[in-house]
Amino acid sequence: MTTNTREHQFIEDMRQKLGKRLVILAHHYMSDAVARHADYTGDSLELSRRIPDLDAEYIVFCGVFFMAETAAILAKPGQKVFIPEMNSRCVMSDMAPAWLAERVLDTLAEGGLSVTPLTYVNSSAAVKALVGSRGGSVCTSANAKTMLTWALAKGPHTLFLPDFRLGFNAADWIGLPKEDRHIVDVREHGRAVNLDKARRAKLLLWPGQCVIHSRFKPETIRKARAESPGCLVVVHPECHPNTVALADACGSTSFIIKFVAEAPEGSVIYVGTEFNLVNRLADKYRGVKDVRPLLYSTCSNMEKVTEPNLAKLLADLDEAPTVQVDEALKDPAKLALTRMLEACAR
Ligand code: SF4
Repeated sequence: MTTNTREHQFIEDMRQKLGKRLVILAHHYMSDAVARHADYTGDSLELSRRIPDLDAEYIVFCGVFFMAETAAILAKPGQKVFIPEMNSRCVMSDMAPAWLAERVLDTLAEGGLSVTPLTYVNSSAAVKALVGSRGGSVCTSANAKTMLTWALAKGPHTLFLPDFRLGFNAADWIGLPKEDRHIVDVREHGRAVNLDKARRAKLLLWPGQCVIHSRFKPETIRKARAESPGCLVVVHPECHPNTVALADACGSTSFIIKFVAEAPEGSVIYVGTEFNLVNRLADKYRGVKDVRPLLYSTCSNMEKVTEPNLAKLLADLDEAPTVQVDEALKDPAKLALTRMLEACAR
């Protein structure tokens, strides 16, 4: 149960005062204390789809930094994008710095490989711009299957970054044989890539991962099933493929929400994703369905966005620092995102 704090009242007063000039977006992994103030909650795909239609002067993104950057790329001129905590970084996105991704792509190109890069939305604006400038696009966990099919259709090789687990799971969903996949060696400033192995693979995977979802192991699912025979298990595709293989279902946060909503009354459902979302679902269905975390796993960066720092931001929006994206990155990054939005609109 989330209590009503002084900050809660202040934020609601500011929302009332600013009216349509302010829009607050919150990712599903936000705590209840933050999410309850949002005009829109959603996963990365749902929230990025909303940005082009927003007319608000102030867009406050409650999530991790790359999400606010994505909003800044898609926002209209003159709109100001904020994040309550600038230092809330996605550890996975930081595993693929743009300079290194560029060197790896250069090494592959020098080796004669034609590669379409496809980056998970959990990546910096600089990586999105790089991908956009090399004919590639972006995907989210909700559309990874569609976008991987799109990228593979464009040419002989796709480089999927930064999450090799999502890449592997998406490859499983489209039936790409295991021998067509290769995890690239990104050491030695991108010069350690094994070109022979890369040449033989259709799908090249960057060796990044989400530490929060890595905690869900196959044995975690076995333990849950032993404790509650007949239970349902749903996990996020940032989990290891061996974990996914033992679950009843796997999908984005929106998929998970739908899965829980559609599960029969009385069922026990273990959910393998960030704890704040699981906790919210457990509260929502209490007494109807038993929603349990597969494991207590929180994203410490998502948790850096709090009700107090949201209140502090709203207290002085005109003086607060905005999320800035280098002008030179905006067009190619937008191109990469637009390719995704168009491919998924079909
Ligand atoms: S849960 Fe994982 S992928 Fe999501 S923001 Fe946190 S570190 Fe990044």
